[in-house]
Amino acid sequence: MELWFTEHHNEYINYSLKIKKTLNTEKTDYQELAIIDTEYYGKTLVLDGILQTTENDEFVYHEMIVHVPLFTHKNPKSVLIVGGGDGGAIKEILKHKTVERIVLAEIDERVVENSKKYLPSISYGLDDEKVEIMIGDGIKYVEEHKNEFDVVIVDSTDPIGPAVGLFTIDFYKSVYECLKEDGIIVAQTESPFIYGKLINKLSKMFKEIYPIVKPYICTIPTYPGSLWTFTMGSKKYDPEAIDVNMIPKINTKYYTPEIHKSCFVLPKFIKDIFEEA
Ligand code: SAM
Repeated sequence: MELWFTEHHNEYINYSLKIKKTLNTEKTDYQELAIIDTEYYGKTLVLDGILQTTENDEFVYHEMIVHVPLFTHKNPKSVLIVGGGDGGAIKEILKHKTVERIVLAEIDERVVENSKKYLPSISYGLDDEKVEIMIGDGIKYVEEHKNEFDVVIVDSTDPIGPAVGLFTIDFYKSVYECLKEDGIIVAQTESPFIYGKLINKLSKMFKEIYPIVKPYICTIPTYPGSLWTFTMGSKKYDPEAIDVNMIPKINTKYYTPEIHKSCFVLPKFIKDIFEEA
């Protein structure tokens, strides 16, 4: 018998993957969690029916949410990840030799535990000695830490449930305070095909707070809409002004110095979404 996982993304869009095996399902204090082994994309983390990451395409999202801001900053030493309990962003941050401290502020301990158990190729960095895992609301963590981080990465679920507050101006203002004087924030800001209005709203918020605001894109096959946006807010460094020839060689599958340049080149309809903000 064929078994399929279907993400009912909204009332018009479903996305399905053929299942090899269901490895775990549980209801955590915050969300319904499933780990499924899929035929094509390997083991996959699902939260509240929404696919979060798969073994076979996670590299695109995690490399792009990490290397673009970390190579934009001149000397990143301390990095905060809000969300990101699967550990994928951490494994990429660990490739940066300047980084001394990584804090993961993840609300749901069960995401961390399940990722460690079932997704070791993504989560292996979680046990690194540079990593501090803070289980709790990332919004509160950010409010309580001022002038502490070089880079803040908002690696959140979609704006539902506990993640709603991560898509608000109050949160981005707190992040500004949490960053050092030359700090950078990057947030995953969804697909322009589906969340155009939200991206426009978020872009307005970023522009109210950060002197340099730069959206960038990549393609993630297992996320609805596939074309994905990130939004960077920077106090000092312009990601497009850096000399990409100076980027040291690291082991990646998607990110390259050329991609660092080209990811800021936006198709017209996405440019319009951001420029109208
Ligand atoms: N790459 C993913 C995506 O775009 O689908 C995001 C992955 S990561 C698993 C998202 C994490 O954000 C989840 O583990 C969720 O528990 C966490 N999260 C949601 N709201 C949060 C909050 N307010 N504070 C900290 N973590 C939060």
